[in-house]
Amino acid sequence: MHSKKRVFSGLRPTGRMHLGNYLGAIRNWVAMQETRDCVYGVVDYHAITTPFNPEELRSDVREMVLDLLAVGVDPDRSALIIQSQLPEHTELAWILGTITPISWLERVPTFKEKSEMHPDYLHLGLLSYPVLMAADILLYGANEVPVGDDQLPHLELTREIVRRFNHMFGETFVEPQAYFQKDSARIMSLSQPEKKMSKTLGPDSYIALGDAPDAIRKKIRKAVTDVGPSEESMSPGVNNLFRLLSLVGGQEEHTRLMDDYEAGTLRYVDLKDTTAEAIIAFLEPIRQRREELAADEEALDHAVQSGHELASQMARETMANVRAVLGVG
Ligand code: ATP
Ligand code: MG
Repeated sequence: MHSKKRVFSGLRPTGRMHLGNYLGAIRNWVAMQETRDCVYGVVDYHAITTPFNPEELRSDVREMVLDLLAVGVDPDRSALIIQSQLPEHTELAWILGTITPISWLERVPTFKEKSEMHPDYLHLGLLSYPVLMAADILLYGANEVPVGDDQLPHLELTREIVRRFNHMFGETFVEPQAYFQKDSARIMSLSQPEKKMSKTLGPDSYIALGDAPDAIRKKIRKAVTDVGPSEESMSPGVNNLFRLLSLVGGQEEHTRLMDDYEAGTLRYVDLKDTTAEAIIAFLEPIRQRREELAADEEALDHAVQSGHELASQMARETMANVRAVLGVG
């Protein structure tokens, strides 16, 4: 009997892992390894839905694996996979696509956002991206999916797909739940603080886990704080810096600077410098671990090979069952 809960989550290899990814989702990936069976994916077929460069994609996959190991994803306990190496992901996505109404996909907010961001890169894959995500999760029978809150509409869609599939073909899949901490589920961009921090908004919008201390100081110094002359409440940029400061362990400084803010004496440069130093200290062990690992090609190869077999077996079992209930194969 399988009693442990199952977990799946993925990360797009579209740049470097950033603080938003880490605080919003990936630190939960690490914590959940203690009590659950986890499959974690570098989801390269998701990365190709927005404009990309094949050479960069190849190195981004490697860098993502490095980031994941550096923060503590343990390939001996969790299955770490590269999505494109397991054809069952796209196979199941095709099947789920045949029962997913187009209207469900058209109302997904990320579809609207991404099609506005890249109007000349509008294609079927961008629309059906959440179906591939549903396949990623359902392939491993995951009960829980650790994600940031931008993924909630996709999770809801996955649950709707499960209900529809089970209704049409009999109980086959379980409905997965999103797993996140409210206070860190949405970190905002440094350069456009009304949007969430994202790899695709470019490196100035985020602090990468591997950024050197000087790069971190520069990025935080440049972070947008004011929105205009007539500010009544705290601007999103200032609010984001305060939240970051507290999330990376600077609670005391947070309290002191918040007192200054309320007294009207806060100098943004103090908030920025304090936040930058707190982030640097927080990331230092990760950065060191990352450097050690970068020199160890074998550890990187081992990391993705060890999980592949296990994940592949799970994926094949799911597909055998799905084909049987559909009467194909
Ligand atoms: P992209 O711009 O390529 O979509 P991304 O920065 O949004 O990159 P993803 O790979 O799409 O990163 O997401 C990986 C995980 O990180 C997801 O669970 C997502 O919800 C979470 N996440 C992404 N951005 C943030 C953020 N700003 N705050 C909290 N969680 C986030
Ligand atoms: Mg994203």
